[in-house]
Amino acid sequence: STISKAMVCEKHGQPKDVLRLKEIKISKIKDDEVLVKFLASPINPSDINQIEGVYPIKPRFKEYGAVGGNEGVAEVIAAGSKVKNLTVGDWVIPDTKAFGTWQTYATSPENELQKISKNGISSISAATISVNPPTAYRMLKDFVNLKKGDVVIQNGANSAVGQSVIQIAKAWGIKTINVVRDRPNFDELASELHKLGATLVIKEEDLRANSTRELVKSLGSPVRLALNCVGGKSASGITRLLGHNATIVTYGGMSKQPLTFGTGPFIFKNLRACGYWNSRWNKEASKKDKQYMFDDICELIRGGHLAEPWHDETKWEVSDDNKTLNKKFMEALSKAGKSFGNKKQILTF
Ligand code: NDP
Repeated sequence: STISKAMVCEKHGQPKDVLRLKEIKISKIKDDEVLVKFLASPINPSDINQIEGVYPIKPRFKEYGAVGGNEGVAEVIAAGSKVKNLTVGDWVIPDTKAFGTWQTYATSPENELQKISKNGISSISAATISVNPPTAYRMLKDFVNLKKGDVVIQNGANSAVGQSVIQIAKAWGIKTINVVRDRPNFDELASELHKLGATLVIKEEDLRANSTRELVKSLGSPVRLALNCVGGKSASGITRLLGHNATIVTYGGMSKQPLTFGTGPFIFKNLRACGYWNSRWNKEASKKDKQYMFDDICELIRGGHLAEPWHDETKWEVSDDNKTLNKKFMEALSKAGKSFGNKKQILTF
């Protein structure tokens, strides 16, 4: 029988305190199930919130606890006799809540997995395709009818979502103003963002400067959409640079600060503020709309328009002893939660 080495939490709490490596015996697959071997799984901010117990989607607790991680790519290594759409060798990503992706093996009914093309898509891209690129894609499409040459502003621009926003916008001919916190290597970061296609890169600390207002003006058209990853002062700062009838979409709250906006922009500029949650979109969208978007995102990747997110790989050798795996994971976890960390932490199996 197969043993999966999994990062499991038994109860809610700080991930470093409640996560432990466990060996889980994988039961024989049922007729409608597949056995998969994970290839790569990221550590995302919402995975951490989920373990803390502050995320609307809870971990799937079983008798041994809940396996962490929601996103990742796995390869089918065995399929039950009634499995219709998957075969051995296929790559799959979870198509369900709280799958548990920080583990070597899992069994799953085929309808809780979505097949993903391997053609021109790396395992790192596949492992990170289901949350961040769709979030960027939907936010650029669903709130404001953007045309070529229009301008979008975003904070947290160096986040994985932010990197997707820059690249997808660039592919669609949309200009981006990218706000990041100041740091010792700001120039290096700005140059990396420019390489992705950023039009402007601005320090959060300069948001209120007149020179920033002039720079934004020089782009030639008013800013129509703001994407807010951070909240607090940063969110109010980016709304100051918006044109009339603009929309600010909040999708993250990295500063843990509430949103405060001036009254003026709502009354005199008809500002609109709303939120986006990818899990809600996934639940409500038709299969056809999802497929269309995935095909489009895969095309962007194949065409070289959407690169792997900046990342560090943590190699989880199955041959490593449990103590070593535990240590490797805890190091990746601590890097994932660090400010100015700048790299998505990805476990590769
Ligand atoms: P990453 O781990 O790639 O990036 C985290 C970002 O947050 C970095 O830009 C980092 O910037 C910034 N940051 C961290 N701490 C702070 C802070 N105290 N103040 C300001 N900025 C901070 O994350 P993802 O791209 O995976 O996710 C980004 C956010 O988007 C998360 O909040 C996540 O939960 C959310 N999200 C929401 C979705 C939705 O459907 N609503 C879908 C996907 C993601 P720095 O370099 O300055 O530290």
